[in-house]
Amino acid sequence: MARRKKVYEGKAKTLYEGPEPGTLVQYFKDDATAFNAEKRDVIEGKGVLNNRLSEYFMTGLNNIGVPTHFIRRLNMREQLIRAVEIIPLEVIVRNFAAGSMAKRLGLEEGTQLPRPIIEFSYKNDDLGDPLVPEEYIIAFGWASQQDLDDIVALALRVNDFMSGLMLGVGIRLVDFKIEVGRVYDGDFMRLIVADEISPDSCRLWDIETGRKLDKDVFRRDLGDLADAYTEVARRLGVLPTNNGPVTKPTLIN
Ligand code: UDP
Repeated sequence: MARRKKVYEGKAKTLYEGPEPGTLVQYFKDDATAFNAEKRDVIEGKGVLNNRLSEYFMTGLNNIGVPTHFIRRLNMREQLIRAVEIIPLEVIVRNFAAGSMAKRLGLEEGTQLPRPIIEFSYKNDDLGDPLVPEEYIIAFGWASQQDLDDIVALALRVNDFMSGLMLGVGIRLVDFKIEVGRVYDGDFMRLIVADEISPDSCRLWDIETGRKLDKDVFRRDLGDLADAYTEVARRLGVLPTNNGPVTKPTLIN
């Protein structure tokens, strides 16, 4: 089989050239990293679970009219996506204080916030993804004020969708991160959800017990990460079998 051209290799995923212009193949690896890759391990099956879970969330978002890069799942570890121009920001939405916010403000983890709070980090591993105010983003030209307004609207819709979905299976969506990309339809530019949505990029706590079902299990050595992700997939009815997409994929155009 001809080798595909690798376009980009990240910590948990690799991107290859897609079959048609404007598409890419996103491959989910089993590698887990934390603390800017200071802690690393290989968690067997993580890539398969995240491929499935990201497919599930992005398909749902596409179906309610929140545009994402997801086109369809190709196999256990790969999905076809739209190529986008990534905005170099990590868009973080928080419903409850945890992680870096809890630390920064001296809040107890799990404290409910008065409303969802959105913050931005500049995507740069060498700098450790520093938190940046909107003024930096606009001044340095990473995004315009209009882009930021659109990103906030997009992030809040993802938050409502994901919070409801998780609540339905007894899980609290504490916080999450998305990335946003630009696509061009002729002269018209749109912003769409890109990258992945999975327990690698969310904090998910069991509502009854508080059990952590996300990457904090790895970051904080709380047990078996694959078990935690499998539990999320099981509750949602998404399990890693190889008999086609879980739900009918919707082509976005
Ligand atoms: N997050 C992520 N990638 C990053 C940084 C954060 O996916 O590079 C997610 C993280 O999993 C959590 C949320 O964004 O769900 C908020 O993370 P936080 O700022 O608290 O940082 P952390 O405590 O994870 O270092």
